[in-house]
Amino acid sequence: MSKAIPQKARAVVIGGGVSGCSVAYHLAKLGWTDVVLLERKQLTSGTTWHAAGLIGQLRASQNMTRLAKYSADLYVRLEAETGIATGMKQNGSMTVALTAERREEIYRQASLARAFDIDVREISPEEAKALYPHLNIGGVKAAVHLPLDGQCDPANIAMALAKGARQNGAAIIEGVRVIEVLTRAGRVSGVTCEQAGERFTIETENVVNCAGMWGRELARQSGVTLPLHACEHFYIVTEAIPGLAQLPVLRVPDECAYYKEDAGKMLVGAFEPVAKPWPPAGETIREDFCFDQLPEDFDHFQPILEMAINRMPMLETAGIHTFFNGPESFTPDDRYYLGETPELRGYWVAAGYNSIGIVSSGGAGMALAQWMNDGEPPFDLWEVDIRRAQPFQKNRLYLKERVSETLGLLYADHFPYRQMATARGVRRSPIHEHLKARGAVFGEAAGWERANWFARHDQEREYRYSWQRQNWFENQREEHLAVRTGVGLFDMTSFGKIRVEGRDALAFLERLCANRIDVPEGRIVYTQMLNHRGGIESDLTVTRLSETAFLLVVPGATLQRDLAWLRRNLREEFAVITDMTAAESVLCLMGPRSRELIGKVSPNDFSNEHHPFGTAREIEIGMGLARAHRVTYVGELGWELYVSADQAAHVFEVLEQAGAEIGLKLCGIHTLDSCRIEKAFRHFGHDITDEDHVLEAGLGFAVKTDKGDFIGRDAVLRKRETGLNRRLVQFKLAEPEPLLFHNEAIVRNGKIVGTITSGNYGHFLGGAIGLGYVPCKGESAADVLASGYEIEIAGTRVKAEASLAPMYDPKAERVRI
Ligand SMILES: Cc1cc2nc3c(=O)[nH]c(=O)nc-3n(C[C@H](O)[C@H](O)[C@H](O)COP(=O)(O)OP(=O)(O)OC[C@H]3O[C@@H](n4cnc5c(N)ncnc54)[C@H](O)[C@@H]3O)c2cc1C
Repeated sequence: MSKAIPQKARAVVIGGGVSGCSVAYHLAKLGWTDVVLLERKQLTSGTTWHAAGLIGQLRASQNMTRLAKYSADLYVRLEAETGIATGMKQNGSMTVALTAERREEIYRQASLARAFDIDVREISPEEAKALYPHLNIGGVKAAVHLPLDGQCDPANIAMALAKGARQNGAAIIEGVRVIEVLTRAGRVSGVTCEQAGERFTIETENVVNCAGMWGRELARQSGVTLPLHACEHFYIVTEAIPGLAQLPVLRVPDECAYYKEDAGKMLVGAFEPVAKPWPPAGETIREDFCFDQLPEDFDHFQPILEMAINRMPMLETAGIHTFFNGPESFTPDDRYYLGETPELRGYWVAAGYNSIGIVSSGGAGMALAQWMNDGEPPFDLWEVDIRRAQPFQKNRLYLKERVSETLGLLYADHFPYRQMATARGVRRSPIHEHLKARGAVFGEAAGWERANWFARHDQEREYRYSWQRQNWFENQREEHLAVRTGVGLFDMTSFGKIRVEGRDALAFLERLCANRIDVPEGRIVYTQMLNHRGGIESDLTVTRLSETAFLLVVPGATLQRDLAWLRRNLREEFAVITDMTAAESVLCLMGPRSRELIGKVSPNDFSNEHHPFGTAREIEIGMGLARAHRVTYVGELGWELYVSADQAAHVFEVLEQAGAEIGLKLCGIHTLDSCRIEKAFRHFGHDITDEDHVLEAGLGFAVKTDKGDFIGRDAVLRKRETGLNRRLVQFKLAEPEPLLFHNEAIVRNGKIVGTITSGNYGHFLGGAIGLGYVPCKGESAADVLASGYEIEIAGTRVKAEASLAPMYDPKAERVRI
């Protein structure tokens, strides 16, 4: 019996897997009673029905962990609320390490878990054996145990969420396929769908694409970028094993396997290093796909099974009941997508779950529903924000190559600075080949190839990853010191460059930016764009090019987000927003000898008088032209040279030749990062996000509340009255040996109070350095600094010096010399 399809709805959720059911449930809970969920076949018939059902709470960041924890709690409650058994058991989980590097990783994770208030214990191999008697602990170096992790029945979770949604007023309709999302004036206006051969239209201003592996093509039809691609994903289930009783979930990432005991059988799942994208090239997902499996591929699974038999000897004699192969969506960076798409207002997504959709969907559905309800995310979700996707990433060849790697990365060593090995080289600077010939070792950001460090002639041009000093540590030191004492050259072509131009461009930017934008032509303004809570939506410089034209420079990774923020907030003002990123290269000359070098290749005057800090001028350079911006992200005298892409190679060659006489050093992104953290310059996405208040981030100097109204001004004024709840503090470890990367626990007077938001090695200051927030409600700056600080790294606490002013050049004298 087909159900009546309403003509109108506040939101249409597309897809009845765990993701769609959770979004519908949470919208209904928020009082969106006229929500309709449409499922083309039956609920859970896509990927959800066959998930293994592991529920691990610890994720890579505080907010992702918050969401996973929320899911676990919800799944426990849901049974009582809906009467559907979710199978949720908190039988704990255990991860074992077979190498010293993995031990460091899991111990670091344990420190992180403590910082996030998750129950965790580092245990010895013998203790692991006591918890898991079937485990062969040969080669096991260490283990961690999370007693409140668990497992569940995924299909029932989805069914319970669907029932809960219905109980709160949502309509869940099976057997209805969405064919098209309709639009009017740049926003969603409805959907056309099909039920038993008949077509219907539902008027709505909001659709949520929860269509799993179908999601990319559905989005593409509306001009929306949703880069995901399915891979084959495998597990086996044994016959019942006599005497097998309840066990924690076990992960052996060094052997790419996880183990789940369920009803006396053992499920062994794989995260193999090279996965199989599906469907194969030239094929599409079959129209009648419903509760389907993919053909088994024993040869592909066998290497994992062999290791599993050694690790769990009882598997040798256990019969295999099921060999399961099912498709699951993976994304280019192994993170899912949430939020409103930049291309189309009212088009939301919750998809691309990278094999953690069951544990993630509860929290993700809650966060997305709140986002839709309030018009802004409830807390920082940048990691999974759809606005990080690059338009080119919907290319299917790119996706196929990349997802063959991302599946396995779930269990690979998560070394710091680890780079993707596949689908590289898509976006390159005009001087890419020049840098490559000079030893550049590249990393990737937003598809851009960027020189991360420069190898010596006699050195291999590859990363040797480790949790200790990696093989480029000395290269970075030389680059870092060259910037501090001589001159270095960075290629920052990947910067996002946005031109805002028109009669009302100034008024528009004044309304969005917290700093004063009405400055003379040629002035550069460092500013943030804030949301109504005073949180930072964007961190940028604005250069006034003329009366009516401005150039906004943003990190390459946030370009799509920044463009979306500008476009969403443009009202009746006459201003045109254009992405100019590919038009200009950016070569940054940084260091006390940069003036000397630029003077050799340009007849212009670079004195403080003619070219002061914070100004941009057109200059002649070699036989070409550039716009020289006197700003710095490393805390030194320097110029960012914006060069038309066609002249970039010429300008580079001219600089290199002249620089040879004074020891110009080519420098990479790792050095940019270590220099900027010494100077305590913030980085969007790490130290500052839309959740971080601009005053608590220590950026009040760039906020001008006296200039008139702007978005976030009220929140700034309120915070000035109520005082700061936390402050961004800079740390330096007292011992020169240990390293900081990100996420290490901050310990204040013996108690964990936060995590390091970004860390690196301060080669000039002589120790690891980092930034991180310290709660300080009702306290003065002096109180904050009066405490004793340590940083907990892999379970070991190391004394740290704390400062609110930058430890390097606190008076900013070096940038003005
Ligand atoms: C072997 C395996 C093991 C896994 N183990 C775990 C685990 O232990 N823990 C964990 O957290 N996750 C696990 N996962 C991942 C998890 O199963 C997925 O991340 C999750 O099910 C994805 O849910 P979804 O709702 O996004 O997609 P789906 O479940 O695929 O739902 C999408 C739905 O959209 C419908 N649809 C598509 N197009 C349309 C349209 N045009 N109109 C209407 N409806 C449409 C489809 O029919 C489908 O039902 C595993 C996955 C696999 C393959």
